Amino acid sequence: MCGIVGYIGKNNAVKPLIDGLYRLEYRGYDSAGIALLTQDNIFLKKVAGRVNELDKAIRNEPLQSHIGIAHTRWATHGVPNDINAHPHTDCKNQIAVVHNGIIENFRTLKQFLVKKGHKFQSETDSEVIPHLIEEFYDGDLMAAVRKACSYIKGTYGFVIISLASPGYIIASRMGSPLVIGRGKGEYIVASDLAAIISYTNEVIYLKDGDIAEISSDHLRVEGCESGMVFPEIEKVNLTLEQIERRGYKHFMLKEIYEQPIILRDTIRGRLNYEDGIARLNGISNYIEDLRDADRIIIIACGTSWHAGLIGEYMIESLAEIPVEVEYGSEFRYRRPVLKKGTICIVVSQSGETADTLAALREAKRHGATVLGICNVVGSSIARETDAGIYIHAGPEIGVASTKAFMGQIMTFALLSLLLGRLRRLSVDEGRDIINAIEKIPDQLQSLLDKLPDKIKKLARTFKDHRNFLYLGRGYNFPVALEGALKLKEISYIHAEGYPAAEMKHGPIALIDKNMPVVVIAIKDAIYDKVISNIEEIRARQGIVIAVGSEGDTQLKKYVDYVIYVPETMDHLYPLLTILPLQLLAYYIADYRGLDVDKPRNLAKSVTVE
Ligand code: GLU
Repeated sequence: MCGIVGYIGKNNAVKPLIDGLYRLEYRGYDSAGIALLTQDNIFLKKVAGRVNELDKAIRNEPLQSHIGIAHTRWATHGVPNDINAHPHTDCKNQIAVVHNGIIENFRTLKQFLVKKGHKFQSETDSEVIPHLIEEFYDGDLMAAVRKACSYIKGTYGFVIISLASPGYIIASRMGSPLVIGRGKGEYIVASDLAAIISYTNEVIYLKDGDIAEISSDHLRVEGCESGMVFPEIEKVNLTLEQIERRGYKHFMLKEIYEQPIILRDTIRGRLNYEDGIARLNGISNYIEDLRDADRIIIIACGTSWHAGLIGEYMIESLAEIPVEVEYGSEFRYRRPVLKKGTICIVVSQSGETADTLAALREAKRHGATVLGICNVVGSSIARETDAGIYIHAGPEIGVASTKAFMGQIMTFALLSLLLGRLRRLSVDEGRDIINAIEKIPDQLQSLLDKLPDKIKKLARTFKDHRNFLYLGRGYNFPVALEGALKLKEISYIHAEGYPAAEMKHGPIALIDKNMPVVVIAIKDAIYDKVISNIEEIRARQGIVIAVGSEGDTQLKKYVDYVIYVPETMDHLYPLLTILPLQLLAYYIADYRGLDVDKPRNLAKSVTVE
C-alpha cells in the first residue's frame, strides 16, 4: 500500500502533487518522491522519510512543469531509502513510474531484463515496470505499456510520464486502486479521492486491466480485452476526512474490513500448489536451519504475542518442532537457554517494539539465529534480524491491532505449512492446506457482509456490562486472549481470556447471571470438551455468547447467542473466529462513545520499555 498521484494540466504540477501526497500519507510514509517533465529531461527527487522531507527538499527550487507524478511509499520490497523510493526510471531516465502494489514475478522479469542489458538501481519490485516499457517501446508508448502489463503478475496501480510522449500521462491498474479526477483543463490521477477532491468532484474509477492515456483536456481508456471503453464520470460528495477513512467511522473499522484484502497480499506469490508447499523468499537462506531446529522460541508482546501462541500450536502440530513463546520483556531480563539448534522468531507489527527489539539483541548476543515477522519494511527489527517475513498488511493506524494480527496468523500458517512439508506432511496434505488457505479471504469477506448487524445488536445489549470472560481451547485459546485484549483496549471493560478448561480452576467463581462469557466452540477435535465447559457456565447462570461452525445447529441449544463462522481446517480457524470478537469490541466501544482509534494510555508502537 502506498499513495500515488499524477498531474497534467494548465497549472504548475508541483502543488497538486505535493498536496496530494500529504493527503495520501496515511497510506504509507517511509519515503517519498516526485518526477516532473521539463523541456528536455525528467526532474527527479526522492528522499527517505515523510512527505514533509520531500517538500522541504524541493521548496526552494524554482520548479515549473505541467506534467508530473509523485509517490509516498510503504515499502514491500527493499528497505525505505532514497534509492528505493519512487519514482523509478528506465536506463536512460526517459520514463518515470510510480507504482502501488506487488509485482510477484519481478525476479524473473528482472533476470530477463538484466540479460537484455538493463541496469537496475533499486531493490524494488516496481523498477521492472519502467525497464519493461523501455524494452518494448518502439514509437508507441501505449503499445509498450500494454505489452509490459501482459508480462506482469501481481497487483499494480501505476502512473507514467515519458519524454517520448510529453503531452500525456499514462495510468493503469490491476488490483490496486486508481481514480482519475477531471478538472477544467487538468486531470489528476491518484490512489484515492483524498488527493483529488479539493480540485474536482468529477471522477472516473479505473477498472482492473484499464490503461488510461490522459492529456490536459482529453482522456482515453483502453479496457484489458475490450479495446476502447467509455469511462463513466461520477460526481462525488464527500469530505476529506471521510475519504481518508474511506467512509468508515474509524480507522479500526476500516482496517477490520481490509482483512480479506490483506490476507490476499500476505499469501500472494507464496503458495506453490504443485508441490503443496509455501514459499517464503525472505527466509530462504535459513529454511534448512529451521527444518533441523531442535527448538524455536517465538518472542513478542501484546497482540503479536497472541499470534505467536497460535504459531506455536501450528508449528508443533504440522512440523513437530518444539516451540516456546516468550514475552519480549521477560526474555530480555532472564537467562534464556539458547543452545545451538535453537532459532528465535521475533514478531512485531511496527518492527520497533522496544522490548521485542531488546530481546532480539539479547538472543543475538547469545549467538542465536533470529528471524523476524514484521509489517513495517526497513524497521529496526527488520534490519537487525538475520532474515524475515513481511506480512504486507499496509499501514495500521488504529491503535488496537486487527489486520496486522490477521497477517501474522497467516504468516505462521504459511511457515508451518512450509516446515510441515519439509518434515512430515505429504504433497496431498500440503495441497489440502493450500486449498483451505486460499478460501479464507472469501470466507472472511462473507462474514463481513453478514455479521455486523448481529454483532451491533449484541454490542448494544452488553455495552454496559463491567466484566467479560473469553474462553477457547487449542488454536482458539489465543483467540480468546486476543478477543479479551481488544475489549479491554478500546472499551475499558475488564475482560479475561482463559483456556476454556482452566475456568474451573478459578475464574468460575466469577460467573453469575451478570457475567457474559464469549466461548469459541467451533467443530474441531475438542468440540465436545468445550460444550462441557459451556454446560458448567450455564449451570451457574452465566450468559454464553458462542462462536460456532456453520451448520452446527445443536450449539444453539446450549447457549444464549451464537455467531457462526464458515468451516475450515482446525489450525486455520483463528483467522475466522477472531473477526466477530474484533467487531464486538469495536461496536461496544463505539456505543460507549469512546475514541476507538486513540484509546487512553495506549500508543500504536510501544518504543519504550
Ligand atoms: N512494491 C512497491 C515497493 O516496495 C510498492 C509498495 C506499495 O505499494 O506499498 O516499493
